[in-house]
Amino acid sequence: FGGSFGGSIITHSGQILETPNLKVFSFMELRVATKNFKPDTLLGEGGFGKVYKGWLDQRTLSPAKAGSGMVVAVKRLNTESVQGFQEWKSEVSFLGRISHPNLVKLLGYCREADELLLVYEFMPKGSLESHLFRRNSNTTEPISWNTRLKIAIDAARGLAFLHTSEKQVIYRDFKASNILLDGDYNAKISDFGLAKLGPAGGESHVSTRIMGTYGYAAPEYIATGHLYVKSDVYGFGVVLLEMLTGLRALDTKRPTNQQNLVEWKRHSLSDKKNINKNIMDPRIEDQYSVKAATQAAQLTLKCLEPVPKNRPSMNEVLKSLESIAA
Ligand code: ADP
Repeated sequence: FGGSFGGSIITHSGQILETPNLKVFSFMELRVATKNFKPDTLLGEGGFGKVYKGWLDQRTLSPAKAGSGMVVAVKRLNTESVQGFQEWKSEVSFLGRISHPNLVKLLGYCREADELLLVYEFMPKGSLESHLFRRNSNTTEPISWNTRLKIAIDAARGLAFLHTSEKQVIYRDFKASNILLDGDYNAKISDFGLAKLGPAGGESHVSTRIMGTYGYAAPEYIATGHLYVKSDVYGFGVVLLEMLTGLRALDTKRPTNQQNLVEWKRHSLSDKKNINKNIMDPRIEDQYSVKAATQAAQLTLKCLEPVPKNRPSMNEVLKSLESIAA
């Protein structure tokens, strides 16, 4: 069938994006791969579409390797909304050009009639969010303290890479459901639909329509729509908070309540005497030293500083996490 490597897509505004590293899939081959988007292949549902598990015969990727195959994740976007198209375009234009071990790999895409699809490497252990919070599911188990630290380090590497890349990228929607895990719990960041290219320079910012996730979105972004590289560091702090406490930052869609929740946890983390007893996730109680837990709590608090410039850079966060894990 008709797929080929590389190509170009034309956006709504007429801009042509070259995508030399991506495969162009036909709708038919993705339909076959997901057994006609059968409900039992559904992996999850995001803001702009559904994600299915699919199986691609290796021939579609490399003719020399007929016979074997690979599992992929196929995201089928809602095409009724402009946002669905925007999300698709952002993913193709970002992930088609960049590559890093801690960013989920985009293998290719399909655009046919009113179908927009994205094909990713499959991440068998699903999202960090499902491991932390969906306790009744028998496909997920509590993750250990060491694994949590490793996941934090992996995710920090992915974010630090984006922030220091040539075109400083602000990820904008950092949260536990966008951190996916491979079979060995290596973590990769997914979902670049909301990422923004920032202008060069440390403290510069872009102003945008507020589109992140309340609970994870930085206070300056909620208040003014100004987005800094350090706004991602705040989101990272919220994820660290969730990993340490085992509690969700995001309990409701109402921003005021969520800010209160983060404030409450921030306050509790500052109370060093209570770090073990009242704050840390009881499921990992016997797995960390008080010293390591205290250091992790202090780092979390720095990431959650209300003023962006008082937060550490992602490279500094990475170094701290590596020294806690050492
Ligand atoms: P959201 O918009 O909520 O961030 P997505 O649409 O990107 O989410 O994905 C929805 C869900 O589908 C994820 O939370 C995850 O469980 C699953 N998923 C997405 N991509 C993959 C993948 N590459 N491998 C395995 N599961 C995935």
